[in-house]
Amino acid sequence: MNIVILTGAGISAESGIQTFRAEDGLWENHPIEAVATPEGFARDPDRVYAFYNARRAQLQQALIQPNPAHHALATLARSAEHQVYLITQNVDDLHERAGSPQVHHMHGELKSAKCPISEQNQPWATQLTGEDLCQCCQPAQSLRPDIVWFGEIPYDLDQCERHLQQTDLFVAIGTSGQVYPAAGFAAQAKRAGAHLVEINLVATDHVFDERYEGVASEMVPLWVTQLLEK
Ligand code: NAD
Repeated sequence: MNIVILTGAGISAESGIQTFRAEDGLWENHPIEAVATPEGFARDPDRVYAFYNARRAQLQQALIQPNPAHHALATLARSAEHQVYLITQNVDDLHERAGSPQVHHMHGELKSAKCPISEQNQPWATQLTGEDLCQCCQPAQSLRPDIVWFGEIPYDLDQCERHLQQTDLFVAIGTSGQVYPAAGFAAQAKRAGAHLVEINLVATDHVFDERYEGVASEMVPLWVTQLLEK
């Protein structure tokens, strides 16, 4: 079976990474427009570098580890019966650390830095500042966090849409469905005839055919086990 999985901040909540709360417009106590828009970066780059430096450092603390939901998806991706296309809105690397072979980070990655002109990116595990320069441009440019901010175009959208056209099953895990275009993926898959499953603490949308309500660390392994036993 062809399966497209979309994960959001909820899958990493039990690993100790805070979700993004659309209702109060804050991410880790910072206003979204200050730390997740190109305008916020232009206004106060030091604040934005510091915000992502703190998130990148937190991600590398020993207590931040993939949870059973990340591990169950890695098991599913390695199963011979199904073709899994895993899209994440998360900028953490917990899917990779759990062993998922291919992860499409549509909103970028914390452990990556990008040239604002050529858009070439490079792995980045330490503090990033405006003094860190690219090696692709002449004159060299200050690197920026490799995060897709509000108002910017997500990565790999064409490829995601191609997979949504062909999928038999679409599963949304731990995502509030507030951030477009990812929020439109379920409806796109439905139009293509897919069965729609939602796994979340609370139901978000009527478009889904089947729901697992509860924490991802319990519900995702349950759903994967049931699927593999079918
Ligand atoms: P969101 O914060 O808007 O929504 C999180 C969803 O997860 C909610 O629907 C909530 O009910 C659900 N949830 C919370 N805890 C859960 C749990 N234990 N089990 C199951 N579900 C749970 O997140 P979003 O939809 O991913 O959109 C937020 C945006 O912020 C994304 O674009 C993302 O790039 C960014 N972000 C990423 C991270 C990360 O990388 N881990 C963290 C925060 C924000």
